[in-house]
Amino acid sequence: MKSAEFMALMTTIRRLDHHQRKRLSAALRQSSGESNVLEWIEASFDAKSACPHCASVELYRNGWVSGLQRYYCQHCHKTFNALTRTPLARLRDKPKWLDYLAAMAQSLSVRQCAADTGVHRNTSFRWRHRFLRWIGQDRPSKLHGITEADETYLLESDKGQRNLGREPGKRGGSATKPGLSDEQVCVPVARDRAGQTLDFVAGNGPLTKTRLTTALKPMLAADALLVSDGNPAYTAFCEAEGISHEAVNLSQGQRVNGAYHVQNVNAYHSRFKQWLARFHGVATRYLPNYLGWRRAFEQHQPLTPEMLLNAALGNFQYLTVT
Ligand SMILES: [Zn+2]
Repeated sequence: MKSAEFMALMTTIRRLDHHQRKRLSAALRQSSGESNVLEWIEASFDAKSACPHCASVELYRNGWVSGLQRYYCQHCHKTFNALTRTPLARLRDKPKWLDYLAAMAQSLSVRQCAADTGVHRNTSFRWRHRFLRWIGQDRPSKLHGITEADETYLLESDKGQRNLGREPGKRGGSATKPGLSDEQVCVPVARDRAGQTLDFVAGNGPLTKTRLTTALKPMLAADALLVSDGNPAYTAFCEAEGISHEAVNLSQGQRVNGAYHVQNVNAYHSRFKQWLARFHGVATRYLPNYLGWRRAFEQHQPLTPEMLLNAALGNFQYLTVT
């Protein structure tokens, strides 16, 4: 814009009424929101600079699309941008992303995030799970030394799914079967004394040795010593896999066995459940997203919109740690 035009614009601004000023200010905020988000996205790609289709680094710049640099791969002859093959590919309204992630950094509900950001409730829901799709992968590669493990259970929920051919369950409903049944989703958490935490959704019903072998075995370093509450699944798993194991006999009222206890992991469970309650019931299929989101809170304080954007783009702190 020429400077004379700009001066004319500045003169015009003085004549705006209150509502027009508010709209202008929102437009300016969005415009700076867009340039910030584009900068972050491009920077995250610059760090990799590889073709998302074939991983070749023989690329050249090939114009711009929707504010993002477009690249051409000399190896596979495809074009792409920094968001291609990420959960954020073709997601619209980039100027609002950082505002939206700021609302998520405050753990606001889908409705509250929508209201805060000025997007529709359905968009808010879609964005939430696009932004969270990869966050669960931001996890330590191995747990070391004394590692507490314990499972918690959450009631199976199909919230948000339609046409299931049966009556939808009530919000925050209760189990119809007594005790531990296939209505309960098992969520084991393991945490070493350095605070590194792993969680996983281990299916419905009680914890089994097989589930531990599948999910926990690959994550335990050779020096790991597992501490459990004496659930026979842990004993059987550790015996079969040759893992050192100490049990605290909670059923006998024993809370601590020397240096061994599961209090850190139990505290983690209760923080997770307390935090989850604000969302008024979460569909089971989105549970891994919420576990990852919670873990991000525990690892990065304060959690910023930029960190959440990085996680959505697959740039993780822990993926490089061995
Ligand atoms: Zn390629």
